[in-house]
Amino acid sequence: MTTTATAAQAPAGNPWHDAREQLDAVAGKMGLDPGMREVLRHCKREFTVNFPVKMDDGSVRVFTGYRVHHNEARGPVKGGLRYSLNVSLDEVRALAMWMTWKCAVAGLPFGGAKGGVIVDPRALSSGELERMTRRFAAEIGMLIGPDADVPAPDMGTDAQVMAWIMDTYSMMHGHSAPAVITGKPVSIGGSTGRVEATGRGVLFVTQEACRARGMALAGATVAVQGFGNVGATAAKLLAEAGAKVVAVSDSEGAIYAGDGLGDIAVLVERKRTRGLIPDSHPGTHITNAELLELPVDILVPAALEGQIHGGNAARVRAKMIVEGANGPTTPEADRILAQKGVYVVPDILANAGGVIVSYFEWVQDLQSFFWEEDEVNLRLERIIKHAFQEVADIHAGAGGTLREAAYMLAVRRVVEATQSRGIFP
Ligand code: GLU
Repeated sequence: MTTTATAAQAPAGNPWHDAREQLDAVAGKMGLDPGMREVLRHCKREFTVNFPVKMDDGSVRVFTGYRVHHNEARGPVKGGLRYSLNVSLDEVRALAMWMTWKCAVAGLPFGGAKGGVIVDPRALSSGELERMTRRFAAEIGMLIGPDADVPAPDMGTDAQVMAWIMDTYSMMHGHSAPAVITGKPVSIGGSTGRVEATGRGVLFVTQEACRARGMALAGATVAVQGFGNVGATAAKLLAEAGAKVVAVSDSEGAIYAGDGLGDIAVLVERKRTRGLIPDSHPGTHITNAELLELPVDILVPAALEGQIHGGNAARVRAKMIVEGANGPTTPEADRILAQKGVYVVPDILANAGGVIVSYFEWVQDLQSFFWEEDEVNLRLERIIKHAFQEVADIHAGAGGTLREAAYMLAVRRVVEATQSRGIFP
């Protein structure tokens, strides 16, 4: 599957506790009203579904899936669907909350949601994956819709999975509804540039972060954890921008070459055909944990939550971290990194490129009017660089970390929307 971000190792700790802790920290700093803080500390809707799927051998297996809406003050909820054995209600809650902040930081008219199924998609046949996906789509059909909740790909899901969900929803409603989901194939209303959007956004924010820090991207050494859609695209585009990508990894481990790993496209092809870590590769074979501690200029964690934690943050030697993954750094690690002066570009800003182009896809579907890829990439660049600047301005005034600044911007926008609408009834 093209968008399967590869797991580095099981996430440490509980991402939902981390997400709430991040919110609590800025709520205190902003002097947020306690009632409003309580609203934001909860997910508005949490849907769990156990559903049967007929397997190829004739047996029936029951899968557990979730769809969680964190907050819809700013618009229909938006967020991906994850297929992974690590999926849990708490993970989905955290990811939904992070989507609320991510959409708000980027100024998109969406609230936050997330979903997932506890499954290893690589262990299913294509037929099983399709039946599982269609049944899950039918089960969450009462929640999703172009004006209500618009899912998208995440770890373990891809454009094909989105196509099955779009088709299932359309069959249930008796007409084609492309705007019910984003990250679809271009042939059925997907957007050009969507597959590479998250990685391209990582490039744009890295360019801005380098500018802010007076650091040259050309020649900077980069380590990328995770070689799924986000990590591989970010590695490729950063290398094209002149950075020296010295390490990449997948769930099997990492490869490291101090002089640079060369053509990233070759590694993408190698990963597809025989795995990233073949014996013959010239780079040194290291572990995922070692990759995080390499003496590089820029570290891009693009795998799972909780990878940089209290136990390893003190050993991180990167000058800058650009979070391609959602929640890769725990609050405890954040405090250690801040003390060390590491510049952390937070996930809700750094990986917003995906949902920004999802927004473009939704707009194009609603208008049935489609854009050239150049236009998509240009608009993405404009929005994400503007968001970076807004966050950097708050950071310059308020101090603290860039994550706190991004949260302040996001929370302020969600609170403003809630106050304008009022509390029903
Ligand atoms: N799953 C992606 C994310 O975490 C994209 C979500 C979307 O496009 O709705 O940001």
